[in-house]
Amino acid sequence: LTHPSTTTSRRPPAPAALLPVVGAGQSVPLVDGRSARYVHLDYAASAPALQAVADHVTAVLPAYASVHRGAGYLSQVSTRLLEQARGEIARSVGARDDDVVVLTRNTTDALTLLSTAVPGEVVVLDVEHHANLLPWQRGTARVVPAAGTLAATEAALAAELGRRPAALLAVTGASNVTGEVPPLARLAALAHAHGARIVVDAAQLVPHRGFDLAGLDVDYVAFSGHKLYAPFGAGALVGRPDWLDAAPPHQPGGGAVREVGTTATVWARSPERHEGGTPNVLGVAALAEACRVLAAVGFDRVREHEAVLHDRLVQGLRDRGIEPLRIWTDAPDVVGVVSFTVPGSTASQVAAFLSAEHGVGVRDGRFCAHPLLARLGASDGAVRASLGVGSSAADVDRLLDALDRLRADGP
Ligand code: PLP
Repeated sequence: LTHPSTTTSRRPPAPAALLPVVGAGQSVPLVDGRSARYVHLDYAASAPALQAVADHVTAVLPAYASVHRGAGYLSQVSTRLLEQARGEIARSVGARDDDVVVLTRNTTDALTLLSTAVPGEVVVLDVEHHANLLPWQRGTARVVPAAGTLAATEAALAAELGRRPAALLAVTGASNVTGEVPPLARLAALAHAHGARIVVDAAQLVPHRGFDLAGLDVDYVAFSGHKLYAPFGAGALVGRPDWLDAAPPHQPGGGAVREVGTTATVWARSPERHEGGTPNVLGVAALAEACRVLAAVGFDRVREHEAVLHDRLVQGLRDRGIEPLRIWTDAPDVVGVVSFTVPGSTASQVAAFLSAEHGVGVRDGRFCAHPLLARLGASDGAVRASLGVGSSAADVDRLLDALDRLRADGP
């Protein structure tokens, strides 16, 4: 006989959610008229807001008055809220004292802004989300095909950077398709050794690992609030001010100027230079609160929580003969993003089946990364399941059980 405690200790851990998120546990209708607890496995697209973030927004909502130029008391409160949030965002990504935080709509907006400020060519891999590819294509983008290992990919980047000077190396912090995390400190050193700067598209990295601009010696980081447990509409570009101060204003308008004449305008320096118009104060406050809460919980705990669930998901898929897509064979770190194809069903059939018959929300398609999906042999699309601090072992098991039903019954 086996002692019960021995049996228990051999079972893989089955964690509940690490932090409460808004909307958890809600029921959704299924195709046959039943309903089921919704399982959100699409954190990589947009993560549900943390309950703490929702509470914070409710608490600060009464200070709803125009910022910067309002003289009233609530305008002063609102202005302080915005600028404190900017400081919190800077701290949370390890900004240096002279870095600026430009408040943007999202990562796409942040990288588009930087693309107008780069004084030269940009080197980029072919594994990127379109947000970290298309803005560079407006100028001269030198796209380097990724190799099957990170080591060989770094060598290819070194060769390209050595071939002709480049102003910027643009890399993903974590792939939105495979979750793989490249060695950012090494890539920063590589860029700098060739006289280039580096920007990290950290849309998928910040929610899982945080960021450390100074520690990694990275020049710029871009990310989105809606992937970081805050509502839609706020993001940031954080980094060195000189290029941004010399760039044309991203959004010319009120607040972006020092003096306007009828023929000539003196623009403000960054960040104001790029933030014309009334800012998304509540979105920025929410983003900063999400940063604060995650830092307080600690990214070690976030990482541990997601690693257990990621292992459960990957092992469960492998047990069913499904191998997750990977770019590199030697990626040392992977966040909670898993893409795969199911033999015998298209990705859209799988995703529709999971939603309509099981209440499991995933994403399917090419994930705004067409060149990468082609490279991975999945030009017809794949299914992506992605995890976060509100995910649980029960969520992963619902997906795996539904895949068993799919295999048994067909789409
Ligand atoms: N970069 C990566 C790696 C992403 O996953 C995404 C969104 O899916 C983006 C950029 C674009 O983010 P946003 O839509 O918030 O601009």
